[in-house]
Order: sequence, then C-alpha cells, then structure tokens
Amino acid sequence: MIRDIGVNTGLAAIIGTDIGHSKSPAMMNAAFQKLDMDAYYYAMNIKEEDFGTVLRALPKMNFIGLTITIPYKIEVMQYLDEIDPLAEIIGAVNTIRIRDGRMKGFNTDGEGFVRGLEKDLGVDTAESTFLVIGAGGVSRAIMTVLASRKAGAANPGRIYLANRTVEKARALCDKLNAQVCSCCVPIGLDDIPEYIREADVLVNATNVGMPPMEGRAPLDLSLLRSDLVVADVIYNPEKTALLQEAERLGCRWVNGKSLLIHQGCMAFGIFTDREAPAEDMRKAVFGH
Ligand code: NAP
Repeated sequence: MIRDIGVNTGLAAIIGTDIGHSKSPAMMNAAFQKLDMDAYYYAMNIKEEDFGTVLRALPKMNFIGLTITIPYKIEVMQYLDEIDPLAEIIGAVNTIRIRDGRMKGFNTDGEGFVRGLEKDLGVDTAESTFLVIGAGGVSRAIMTVLASRKAGAANPGRIYLANRTVEKARALCDKLNAQVCSCCVPIGLDDIPEYIREADVLVNATNVGMPPMEGRAPLDLSLLRSDLVVADVIYNPEKTALLQEAERLGCRWVNGKSLLIHQGCMAFGIFTDREAPAEDMRKAVFGH
C-alpha cells in the first residue's frame, strides 16, 4: 500500500517529454514501500520551454532526487551545483541527488550496465577484452565506466569500439584514452570479424534488435562463439536475435533488464543513502 502523501513526504520524479511508458515509478515506489519510507516517485512530462523553470523550483520543495531522461540529459547539467566526475566525462546526467537545496548530478547508465556484468555474470571487467558496438548516448556511459575499471589494472584488456559512423567511435576513444585510460580502439563495422576473435565480452549498445529493427542483429551472428559473454542493452524484446543466438550457442548472456535494475538500484541509493531492495524492484518491473 502506498502511504498518503503528506507535507513531509520525500518526492522523487522522472522528467522527460514522453515518459508515460516509464517503468521507473513502479520500480522506485516498490522500493519505498518495501523499506516503509515516507517517499513517493512519479513521472513528469515537462515541455522544453518550461524545463529550466521547473527544475530550478524543485530543490525548494520536498524533492530528494530526480531521474532525467530524453531529451534533457545534457541540458540539465547547466542547472546543477555539482557534477560527479564520471558524469562530467560522459557529458550527460540521468540522476540527481537533492539535499539542502543543492543538486548533484550523476550518470548511472554505465555503472549500472557494468555492475550487471560483474554481479550477474561474474565478469572481470578490468582484465577482459571488450568489443562494444554502438557509440551513441548509452555507449558513451558504458565506455567511460569500462575504461575507468581498466585504469590502474595490472593487465587491462582493450576495448574495441565499432560504430556505423566510425568518426563517432574515434572521437569517443580519443577522449577516453586521454582522460580515463588508454585502452580504447575505434574500428569500423567491417573490422568486427578481425577483432571479435580477441574479445571476451561482446556488447550491443545500438538500437539494432528493437522495433522497428526487431529480428536484426548488429553483426554477422556466425561470428559468435560459445566462450563469448554477450550483453545487449535492449530489454524489449527480452531476447533479441543476438541473444537468441548467444543462448543457442551456450554463451553466458545478459539483456537490458540488468542495466535497468542495477541503474535503478544505484539511483535509489543516491536519492536515499540506503541500500536498494533489488529483488522487489525487479519484480515490480518484470513480474519475476
Ligand atoms: P543513440 O544515442 O541514438 O545511439 C544509437 C546507436 O545505434 C548509434 O551508435 C548508432 O550508430 C547505432 N545505430 C542505429 N541504427 C543503426 C543501424 N541500422 N545499424 C548500425 N548501427 C545503428 O541511442 P542510445 O540512447 O545510445 O540508445 C541505444 C539503445 O540503448 C536503445 O536501444 C535503447 O533502448 C537502449 N537503452 C537501454 C537502457 C536500459 O535501461 N536497458 C537504457 C538506455 C538505453 P550511428 O552513430 O552510426 O548513428
């Protein structure tokens, strides 16, 4: 049962322009209920011309945190009092902690994804060699955190980054090699057959596999091997063509649910300073 909202209820919200379908309210409210906290999370569609006005008002109210989604992850940075160093390098913020009228921004997408590999599949992210396909927003977050795991590692594996627009892969690798860890190598989609041989972990960070590209894969599936770990950021469908083939071959695999739940747990911790009840959050979103 959700408690009544009173003058002391801590508020949190997801802000975007088209978020009626968001799974975050169910996930976060399940966690507040489980821990019997006087807090409530809801979804706010805010028009682009109103975003700055709304955001500046929220720290003056009972807000403890915000989730920021498309199209505001970059624009929001100008309104914050402080930004976590990795979010600064990623160049996007998706989670805000509000305390004493001040807002601090974080990016939980990359860390959520990497924790999924580490905790759900036991991957040694510092020493594994990665082939990541896609150099868009979610890839920027994943690549930054993967590179940060390799900084200072005894035997850091490389991260090969393949993208349809290879200049975007090159720009991201140049930035991470200079600012985080010199381990990133840009490649074209045509180079995948050569570099996948070295990879321990294959990551799909593109839209390829979700509608309207459902049934398609971001690479030639005959290149998969049973000893590859395969991760897809997509969770709708739960098993993309890539993951179906990975499962058929007996690969260890993980889909975008893992990212969603781990980044949600991180955000809950940022909002409340408490450990998130991960299983309850997963059940609230996926029913199992
Ligand atoms: P984005 O910034 O638009 O980037 C899209 C990426 O996909 C780019 O690298 C793009 O290549 C590539 N791409 C698109 N169509 C392609 C095609 N036909 N062939 C080859 N490459 C293609 O999107 P994003 O925000 O990074 O999101 C990417 C995916 O992550 C989406 O499927 C999204 O649903 C998923 N996601 C999941 C979660 C989660 O919680 N599980 C969270 C965030 C995002 P170019 O650079 O060449 O255009």
